[in-house]
Amino acid sequence: MPRVSIRIPTPLRPFVDGRSSVEVEASTAREALARLTEDNERLRAQLYGADGQLRSFVNVYVGDSNLRDLAGDPELSEGVELSIVPSIAGGREPAAADLPATADLPRAEELPDLTPDELRRYSRHLLIPEVGLEGQKKLKQARVLLIGAGGLGSPLALYLTAAGVGRVGIVDHDVVDFTNLQRQILHDTPSVGSPKLESARSRLEAINPNVEVETFETRLDSGNALEILDGWDIVADGSDNFPTRYLVNDAAVLLGIPTVYGAIFRFEGQASVFGAEGGPCYRCLFREPPPAELAPSCADAGVFGVLPGIVGTIQATETIKLIIGQGRPLIGRMLLIDALQMQFRELSILRDPSCPVCGDHPTITELIDYEEFCGANVETGSGADGIPEMDVLELKRWLDDGRRFQLVDVREAYEWEICNLEPQGARLMPQATLPTRVGELDREATIVVYCRSGARSAQAVEGLRSSGLEAINLRGGILAWAAEIDENMPTY
Ligand SMILES: [Zn+2]
Repeated sequence: MPRVSIRIPTPLRPFVDGRSSVEVEASTAREALARLTEDNERLRAQLYGADGQLRSFVNVYVGDSNLRDLAGDPELSEGVELSIVPSIAGGREPAAADLPATADLPRAEELPDLTPDELRRYSRHLLIPEVGLEGQKKLKQARVLLIGAGGLGSPLALYLTAAGVGRVGIVDHDVVDFTNLQRQILHDTPSVGSPKLESARSRLEAINPNVEVETFETRLDSGNALEILDGWDIVADGSDNFPTRYLVNDAAVLLGIPTVYGAIFRFEGQASVFGAEGGPCYRCLFREPPPAELAPSCADAGVFGVLPGIVGTIQATETIKLIIGQGRPLIGRMLLIDALQMQFRELSILRDPSCPVCGDHPTITELIDYEEFCGANVETGSGADGIPEMDVLELKRWLDDGRRFQLVDVREAYEWEICNLEPQGARLMPQATLPTRVGELDREATIVVYCRSGARSAQAVEGLRSSGLEAINLRGGILAWAAEIDENMPTY
């Protein structure tokens, strides 16, 4: 039987004694995964849903092909490498002709002139044929919006400003924290306690006074995102949380602006270009956000200080390539960076025609509530441990099996009026009343908690568990029940 290795991403390594790769003997890909998880229930639960299928934010690559796209269960040959890639869905080798080489470029005659000072400042660019005078003028004309002035935003802002991008916008609402200085090189020790935008502006204006810096001291949300993003040529996403990532993606797709994506986790990074014409968007790959334990924030999990420098610099490179229209952009490709092994790998990804935002028949045509959408993945302060959860199929099975458990609805009474699981035995206990009503719950039974989409109930589960009760969150809430089990149920 062939011996194959399975590459394990950082978040899953605690389930395999910290190893970065595990060798198994298996003749097919699915058999290899079965071997990997046969004695490891916790890892199994990370990779597979209650329906026995790989969860939608987990992808397994055989070589550089996504298992989802390979027919059946491919046979393995000796020494082949499988990779588990969380949070990346979809993936086929895109035909080069399907993808645009560049973003929309301004016509040469509309480009601004360079001053003698600029000609001297950018002389090392002017000497490169791929940039030259025309490329430098395109940079001067370009307008790039950075989401976040943190780890990724720092090298992005510094290099784009130094390179002469005419207008650099930054959205951020944080102040500089002492713990930021290990990686956020835009800021310095004297700026601790000041708004990041203030420290960013003074640093950038000192580097290149020709660049116009526009700052947005606000938290990006559904109410302001379209207005803030409108009019920029490119968005460079350096955000550090899922609600903002989905918000930026959707807003940029709706406005037709490409997003240069970067993400970091400990020693591992990802970079790509989303939302370019013909290319995939973030949702084509990450249809749903992963549970918190697979994607804790840097504050929870830590990050190697140089890593955002590497990834942010790759984002700056891609941004400049899109502006000057040179080279092969990371459209349809996800670059994976492992700083510890110093390995760069690339996975092919393609626009998903069924994508809810950039697909052929989009269902998301305006911005939604992203905190709610990302549900239990909003930071709860529970660290990397996560909150136990089940999906609606599993709940249905529990009900069908007549299993003993208590079903609790933590929404408000007016929501209960619209739809509820009373026929399934649910009891209404609004979240705010829960702490005083814990005594009403059966301490011997497992308690399954639901709300509209899973965010409030995750908090409730955390509270119940800290009171010593065995509680589980219903992932996706009653909306998931309506979507997957009872299509006649009214939703809101
Ligand atoms: Zn998409």
